[in-house]
Amino acid sequence: MRSAAVGGIAAAWTLRSTNRRAAAAPGGRTVAVFGAGPAGLTAAHELAERGFAVTVYERLGAAGGKCRSIFSDQALPSEHGFRSFFGFYHNLPDTLRRIPFRGNRNGVHDIALGAQLSGFETDGAHIRAATVTDSAGARHSVEADYYVSAIPLDKAPAVFSDGVLAADPRLESISRLQSAWMVGIQFFLRRRADLAAGHVAYVDSPWGLTSISEAQFWRTPLNGYGDGGVADVLSAIISEWEEPGVFDRKTAAQCSPAEIAAETWEQLTAHVNKVGDEPLTDDMLHSWMIDPALRDPGTPDVSYDDAIFIQNPGSWADRPDATTAIDNLFLAGDWIRTQMNVACMEGANEGGRLAANAVLHVSGSAAGRVPITPRFRMPLWEPLELADSALYHAGRPNAFDLIDRRYPVR
Ligand SMILES: Cc1cc2nc3c(=O)[nH]c(=O)nc-3n(C[C@H](O)[C@H](O)[C@H](O)COP(=O)(O)OP(=O)(O)OC[C@H]3O[C@@H](n4cnc5c(N)ncnc54)[C@H](O)[C@@H]3O)c2cc1C
Repeated sequence: MRSAAVGGIAAAWTLRSTNRRAAAAPGGRTVAVFGAGPAGLTAAHELAERGFAVTVYERLGAAGGKCRSIFSDQALPSEHGFRSFFGFYHNLPDTLRRIPFRGNRNGVHDIALGAQLSGFETDGAHIRAATVTDSAGARHSVEADYYVSAIPLDKAPAVFSDGVLAADPRLESISRLQSAWMVGIQFFLRRRADLAAGHVAYVDSPWGLTSISEAQFWRTPLNGYGDGGVADVLSAIISEWEEPGVFDRKTAAQCSPAEIAAETWEQLTAHVNKVGDEPLTDDMLHSWMIDPALRDPGTPDVSYDDAIFIQNPGSWADRPDATTAIDNLFLAGDWIRTQMNVACMEGANEGGRLAANAVLHVSGSAAGRVPITPRFRMPLWEPLELADSALYHAGRPNAFDLIDRRYPVR
């Protein structure tokens, strides 16, 4: 993988240079992938391995999407929020085992960083070009044989112009899909705090907290980072932004970053500490970092730039497939129709594989199709799934869906 450029004049040069390179590729089959999250990178990886000339355009200055690594302002290893790789994942681990790296002859694709897809030029049911805006605000026309949009749900409606929607009216349904805020915050600790050998769900915390103690899973000692004073990272996620906190009675959406950190820390410690057994104490706290996608916290304009797709009841009908009615436009991402009915990296990876297979099919490629491992289905759950299917076809909610306020018929 070669990171081509970050921003400004360098990005403008990159967009032109990668186009030239793409045109010279074997077979002249060029693909522009937008979004360097797991979905876009998977599609790019599979197509590059099959001889396509692929360029990835990513709006941020780093690849990885919501799963990217971030460093705190004190040079401590941080993240958007913790990520778990569940045992039933198969497609994503397969990709990770084959991930392209410098010197790997299969790792031949280019990434233009700071390059944001801003729209498509259509010619009936065909994309003639895409428009990409670099970090200096300059607009560039990108031409390729095939276009894969792997940008997240909350950003997609802005780039699907009237021409795109006229060519594929079904894409209008994506504006009915919903997303929510799940915001990561990391507490850097001076001492280890192995709260559990896995996740902790703070079931009655008003801010819907979960956490994981990370040092136990790291091979590299954390005291090699920053000022050397950190022994553990307690990585937490805040999923409820509208409920008042326990200690200062504000919702997370009303709080400044310092207030968010203080309230979250109080909710965590209140759950795990008891008299005589206090795994978390204030003197352990070295520093903290909150997801930089949270914008203008503590002001009425607070917003979140990395919202996650939520599968409300009925959302399946509004999720698009990887193929569209436009002959050279394909979709990838955790929100398109895959075997996973929850936004996750495995679903995003599958979405990337589906988009790659669609390009292979349309291009008439003789290359082998990208394998997709079927989702594991627990035999024990089959009777429940059959019963649920019967309820669904009778227009009734799921038997466990007793208090879900989102269900449309309630
Ligand atoms: C707090 C949190 C915890 C999570 N925990 C887990 C977990 O434990 N396990 C799990 O499997 N999944 C987890 N997920 C979900 C997982 O992170 C996502 O499902 C996955 O990252 C989706 O991948 P994607 O490629 O579809 O989209 P993204 O990861 O969102 O990547 C999309 C990329 O497109 C870029 N982009 C956006 N707009 C444009 C544009 N106009 N032009 C160019 N580029 C653009 C973005 O900057 C981003 O890099 C979690 C998510 C959150 C928010």
